[in-house]
Amino acid sequence: MIMEEKFDIAVIGAGPAGSMAAWSAAAAGRNVCLLERNNKPGFPVRCGEGIGIRSLTEHSDARPEWIKREITCSAMISPNGTKVNITDIDKSTVLDRERMDGDLAQDAVKAGAQLFVTSPVIEVTRIDGGEYQCRCPQRTIISKIVIIADGVESRVARDLGWSTRLASDDIESCAFTRVTSPLIDADCCIFYVGSSVAPGGYAWIFPRGIGEANVGLGILGTRCTAGKPKELLLQFINRELPGGCIGTLHCGGVPVTRYIRPLVRHGAMLVGDAARQVNCISGAGIHYSLFAGKTAGKVAADAIGAEGVNYSSLTNYEKLWKKRYGKQQERSFALKDFVTHHTDDAFLNRIAATLTKKKSRKIKYLTVFLSTFSRHPMLLFKAFKLFG
Ligand SMILES: Cc1cc2nc3c(=O)[nH]c(=O)nc-3n(C[C@H](O)[C@H](O)[C@H](O)COP(=O)(O)OP(=O)(O)OC[C@H]3O[C@@H](n4cnc5c(N)ncnc54)[C@H](O)[C@@H]3O)c2cc1C
Repeated sequence: MIMEEKFDIAVIGAGPAGSMAAWSAAAAGRNVCLLERNNKPGFPVRCGEGIGIRSLTEHSDARPEWIKREITCSAMISPNGTKVNITDIDKSTVLDRERMDGDLAQDAVKAGAQLFVTSPVIEVTRIDGGEYQCRCPQRTIISKIVIIADGVESRVARDLGWSTRLASDDIESCAFTRVTSPLIDADCCIFYVGSSVAPGGYAWIFPRGIGEANVGLGILGTRCTAGKPKELLLQFINRELPGGCIGTLHCGGVPVTRYIRPLVRHGAMLVGDAARQVNCISGAGIHYSLFAGKTAGKVAADAIGAEGVNYSSLTNYEKLWKKRYGKQQERSFALKDFVTHHTDDAFLNRIAATLTKKKSRKIKYLTVFLSTFSRHPMLLFKAFKLFG
């Protein structure tokens, strides 16, 4: 028999965005459920697990157990092999996502949310223009507000009228794995760019400890063919970490486009990868998801009062997101757009040569951005507008 249960707020997907949303809504006193299709939040891990310490601690109560490795330097390798060292900028870490995602879901439970695992939402509908109905194989949830945090594919959002189709130049097709090798630099995250390594994207080695790393690459959809990410990844590992022991290969997509507008439709809110809240250059989305989830959950909780739901106040979530990260994401989109359409390997080599002459502590996002744009006056004008 299919059970029907009622909640103030239903959250779909227990990734960082969904668990933070469930936690903040439950902590604000609402009756919340968190629906996860897998039998364990955070597993299987589909992530490079890299994040800046500041971003992590700003948006979550990070615990020491979440951190697999503290990173002291980063480096970029250009197509001709020039190494640009980037040190003394924001300290980074490589996370244990399985642990972090599990803890975030448990925090939501401790705050009072009900977690249903093995509960894939098959369909969401609005009942007579009012409440929402989430249908899972073994239960049906009725709620006043629904927060959609079902990741990059976000099938559920389509039920409520959003178009979540990604154009092929708005997605990076990734292949990734874990590698053990004595050749891994345990303190440094290394990024490799170039058309033969990862066309329209980059390859990465993120150390998880001595002799172990997450290794992967992303290829822009327009430059990808079936099987290419896995094929290039194996070539990359054999070249950079020869003799390394390669774990299971996985594939996944990273959206590299602007966030979906609107983020709110009546009582439905989109958060995290489902909303395309990702940095378009790095593909990093964990910190955006933590912030978006936390903010959406609180705004949703505040919208519910004794007289009912103030649906129009839910748009505050979009305003807060835009204020905090709108411009940053817009800059990353502009840079991605430029890199995609106006650069080639020779250009990347020139940038690397220029940057190696700078003191590494002076190499910041802005420096890279302005170096990139300096040869293109019209685009430089656009860059100043974005950074103004
Ligand atoms: C290869 C790769 C490497 C990455 N590396 C990094 C990195 O190093 N640093 C970084 O910051 N970001 C990285 N990202 C991006 C980062 O993983 C995402 O931005 C982040 O996980 C988004 O969180 P989320 O909660 O929105 O979605 P997710 O983490 O994808 O969580 C979505 C959840 O929803 C569940 N779900 C889906 N459909 C349903 C349904 N119908 N019903 C119920 N549950 C459902 C899923 O099982 C999942 O648990 C990477 C992504 C990929 C693919």
